[in-house]
Amino acid sequence: MSKIKIISIIAALAFITACATVPITGRKQMNLFPENQMIATSLTQYDTFLKENKLSTNKEQSEMVKRVGKRIAEVVEIFMKDNGMADRVDGFAWEFNLVEDATPNAWCMPGGKVVFYTGILPYTQTEAGLAVVMGHEIAHAIARHGNERMSQQMGIQALGTGLSVLVNEKPAETQQIWMTAFGAVSNVGVMLPFSRSHETEADKMGLIFMAMAGYDPAVAVDFWKRMGESGGQKPPEFLSTHPADDTRVQNLRAFLPEAMKYYKK
Ligand SMILES: [Zn+2]
Repeated sequence: MSKIKIISIIAALAFITACATVPITGRKQMNLFPENQMIATSLTQYDTFLKENKLSTNKEQSEMVKRVGKRIAEVVEIFMKDNGMADRVDGFAWEFNLVEDATPNAWCMPGGKVVFYTGILPYTQTEAGLAVVMGHEIAHAIARHGNERMSQQMGIQALGTGLSVLVNEKPAETQQIWMTAFGAVSNVGVMLPFSRSHETEADKMGLIFMAMAGYDPAVAVDFWKRMGESGGQKPPEFLSTHPADDTRVQNLRAFLPEAMKYYKK
């Protein structure tokens, strides 16, 4: 058999086995990288990020980030296990940190490794406001959007070598792709933004997640209005292809009744 034939067969098999269903929305997706490998890489990249960045010294704010994160992660884990989707949180080791950085940003890597930047707190304002962003970021991780983006970015060639080999042989390059895939860089030039559909999906799932944790999902509308009115720099994670703010607010409003069904005061 020719090399090309073998590669195409491997690729076809990979596509078949990589097909999965996103919780809540039921969308079919394709993730080329094994999730356990994504999580393992996540650990390394997260530690590196924390070493290179300064944790916030504001105890109250740092604790709020941890509290909200824990609360949402707990209900999400229970929900996934109760609904036959335990694999979605398999191997997760949640961590929630607040770093000193004026950029309004937040992200969550595979395995539940979350970072909030102090620059987003003026927009979230309240604990429920923070839960909007937390729900959204956790949703990206549960929906494995990073894996989808990495799959698109690295393409099929990566299959032959595997992510771990890439990490070992081209650490700088891989780290760059990795960090951009999770919105953890502010350099727009190399930004690989979440697609519009990923953003909308994370918004929807995020509303439900925050509602399940006892946070009023209605506050999401005001949060996104504040973000829209800010006019200045938006979170890199939300840049570029994310739905226009008016559209986003409209979509959130339309989805609110569904999220309210999960809201336990
Ligand atoms: Zn997002």
